[in-house]
Amino acid sequence: MIPLVDLKIQYQSIKSEIDLAISEVVESSHFVLGPQVEAFEEELARLCETRFACGVNSGTSALHLALLAAGVGPGDEVITVSYTFVATAAAVLYTGAHPIFVDIDPLTCNIDPSRIESAITSRTKVIMPVHLHGSCADMHPIMEIARRHNLIVIEDAAQAVAADYHGRRAGSMGDLACFSFYPGKNLGAYGEAGAVVTNNEDHVKLIRQLRDHGQSEKYHHARLGYNYRMEAIQGAVLKVKLKYIDEWTKARRSHAAAYRSQLAELEQVGVRLLEETAGGRSVHHIFPVFTRERADLQRHLQAAGINTGIHYPIPVHLQSGYRDLGYGVGDFPHTEKAAAETLSLPMYPELALEDLTRVAETVREFSLQKLAVSP
Ligand SMILES: *Cc1c(COP(=O)(O)O)cnc(C)c1O
Repeated sequence: MIPLVDLKIQYQSIKSEIDLAISEVVESSHFVLGPQVEAFEEELARLCETRFACGVNSGTSALHLALLAAGVGPGDEVITVSYTFVATAAAVLYTGAHPIFVDIDPLTCNIDPSRIESAITSRTKVIMPVHLHGSCADMHPIMEIARRHNLIVIEDAAQAVAADYHGRRAGSMGDLACFSFYPGKNLGAYGEAGAVVTNNEDHVKLIRQLRDHGQSEKYHHARLGYNYRMEAIQGAVLKVKLKYIDEWTKARRSHAAAYRSQLAELEQVGVRLLEETAGGRSVHHIFPVFTRERADLQRHLQAAGINTGIHYPIPVHLQSGYRDLGYGVGDFPHTEKAAAETLSLPMYPELALEDLTRVAETVREFSLQKLAVSP
């Protein structure tokens, strides 16, 4: 079986370093925040080319705290996309604000900047682009719109650690940016973890308080906060893994290039690939193909011993738990089409080229068969 992602093979490749880092935390018995987390925060800020990083207990918590630091609260509006993992919108709702969705660019599946301005109202406070599948949203026009309307930009960079856009790092372009280190993400913890990065010292001070029950000094609680602290074991694991992120990203890019060349001429038979944002360099968290025959293709691959995924089958505006937002079928046609047609192929740094080639050949075989049946 070729898996969609393989976390075990990566662990085997760095096992001695990871085991040592974890046992050091246990020996020190400093389990929450502390020197391991601080050391990781420094390395993460360096990678992201930001002044500060603040480790928290998930990407969702990172989004929640970034929104609070931006001053978002009840009655405010946050412009984002429906074609994302649900946490993007959930975090907005936690603050009492409303997520306002705009449709995606069908080629990149990222927010379509030309649709943002008409969604701005007097209540809009934040634009929150998502760097979907590891490819940055088109940040130049987004930042320009934000400046013109005096809005704050929070990058949901959960899937895009180490991605670039016109020579800038994902996370360094907005006022604040959020990362997830969920185990399956490109930089995965061994449990839950996330971080906020920013160049703004006031923001980072506030986020450090908010993640730790609003504590300004021991047992002095300056404001209502949360228990969103990063565990030391996660900080220690992430610090080890951060050393390898460039190598792993290079491997993902080389896999994406191989898929791209092996699947190139399938466009004519209705299998489309994702386009990268102009001026950007994706880190290929997910490698999707798009086809109207998605269910059949997935079955065909499964029968050939190839696992696939769907990111994501139901856009947030059509989730039953989000009906109160008042959206319905047809509101975001490009989002709905992408959700109906996307299929994620196996993608992880350690994916062997012969396995990748077998995946690509199986997709080709399926597509060309379909063509023969229904020209
Ligand atoms: C994973 C993810 C999140 C949430 O991160 P968690 O660590 O799972 O809480 C938020 N936004 C996007 C786009 C994600 O992919």
